Amino acid sequence: MSIFEYAPAPESRAVVDIKESYGLFVNGEFTSGAGTAFKTVNPATEEVLAEVAEADASDVDRAVKAARKAYDKVWGPMPGRERAKYLYRIARIIQERSRELAVLETLDNGKPIKEARDVDVPTVAAHFFYYAGWADKLEHSGYGTTPLGVAGQVIPWNFPLLMLAWKVAPALACGNTVVLKPAETTPLTALLFAEICQQADLPPGVVNILTGAGETGRAIVEHPGVDKVAFTGSTDVGKAIARAVAGTDKKVTLELGGKAANIVFDDAPMDQAVEGIVNGIFFNQGHVCCAGSRLLVQESVADEVLERLKRRMATLRLGDPLDKNTDVGAINSAAQLARIRELSVAGEAEGAERWSAPCELPTSGYWFAPTLFTGVSQAHRIAREEIFGPVLSVLTFRTPSEAVEKANNTPYGLSAGIWTEKGSRILDVAGKLRAGVVWANTFNKFDPTSPFGGYKESGYGREGGRHGLAAYLKGGQA
Ligand code: NAD
Repeated sequence: MSIFEYAPAPESRAVVDIKESYGLFVNGEFTSGAGTAFKTVNPATEEVLAEVAEADASDVDRAVKAARKAYDKVWGPMPGRERAKYLYRIARIIQERSRELAVLETLDNGKPIKEARDVDVPTVAAHFFYYAGWADKLEHSGYGTTPLGVAGQVIPWNFPLLMLAWKVAPALACGNTVVLKPAETTPLTALLFAEICQQADLPPGVVNILTGAGETGRAIVEHPGVDKVAFTGSTDVGKAIARAVAGTDKKVTLELGGKAANIVFDDAPMDQAVEGIVNGIFFNQGHVCCAGSRLLVQESVADEVLERLKRRMATLRLGDPLDKNTDVGAINSAAQLARIRELSVAGEAEGAERWSAPCELPTSGYWFAPTLFTGVSQAHRIAREEIFGPVLSVLTFRTPSEAVEKANNTPYGLSAGIWTEKGSRILDVAGKLRAGVVWANTFNKFDPTSPFGGYKESGYGREGGRHGLAAYLKGGQA
């Protein structure tokens, strides 16, 4: 039971106008798809929000041809300073329509409105502003100024609009055109983004949005007219994509899964560390590739950290994602909920001890209480596999070298966190961690100027910052 009672403070959904059905966005217009339609639901209530077209191979072909034509005739030849104006315009419209975008993201994804409103949408606008600034300065990128052509981009459901921005903004800034597929459970903000492209008068064909599931994604990746494949999603699908494009001259970037260690040393500022652990694993219901899903805590402070952590977890408010008080929203789909449950049951069966925050779960929709496991060993599935939910595995260590060894004992290498008051220890440990991003005394901080990406099975290529331009210019490696 929470010690405080809160009056509900729901954000109004009247600000969004959800249509009954949506077509595909090809060549600047919404068109019907050749395939069947599918439904997208609000995971917090299981209410059907809309029907969405499923693009088949012929739709993909249409979209790639539209993107090619726009690349050859309009976008490729356009001076960078002119492309920049479109990107700035898109960024400003995103800011103007931010409330609408945040509410729609929360409805379709299940994430708390305070996260959609304060993290996702502002970071989306920031990405467009940042890459707009690069469009006329590519000669300083270090990767030349020549774009690749048509980019095929496939994204996941955990940050639908943010992943779109990470892909679309640098691609357009460099002069490429795009065919993008959002995830099947979260298509609505990408379709609203298509409307924003119309509002910004973006030339037809520069951005094409195709909705659909894995088969649509595969058709985009395998289309011979696509010059560049950019994928964010699971490691298994990433491997299949790497195989599919092997032997072609397509360039590829893969942003895949993670199993980050959040390392707490005995001299860490305790209250801040506990907040960092909570933010690391319960932000966005733990549907975060770089989530701090393995807590490595120094043995001498483990009991104290766990006691404080449980006390803090008991105050997290789970429920209506549109309520501005909500800390933990809905799990994005029934399938993801089943996976989280399966791994949690496996954790108990393997001998770890489970503790869940004492919160009431709503009766409809997909929900999972914030949970932690103690007594976890490195061999346990919950320590090795990506759970992608609000579940923390706690392991202990005695020395810095043991912490590094355990942190690196994973096939992934996307991110890590270090909590200590010693700057020298931060530098020493960070240098030994095989992770693309290392946060010190903070976690889950994103900035468009900073490159993001993985080592090992977390993928290759970087998104964000100057390095993110490499993925979309001929002079880049990826
Ligand atoms: P997923 O791999 O199942 O799906 C991702 C996207 O790929 C979806 O749009 C899906 O329709 C499409 N897809 C599925 N099969 C395909 C195929 N054969 N060919 C082409 N496209 C295909 O992943 P998910 O469950 O949507 O997302 C969760 C995963 O994404 C997690 O593993 C998470 O770690 C990862 N992720 C990584 C990052 C990062 O930056 N590294 C960011 C967010 C999420």
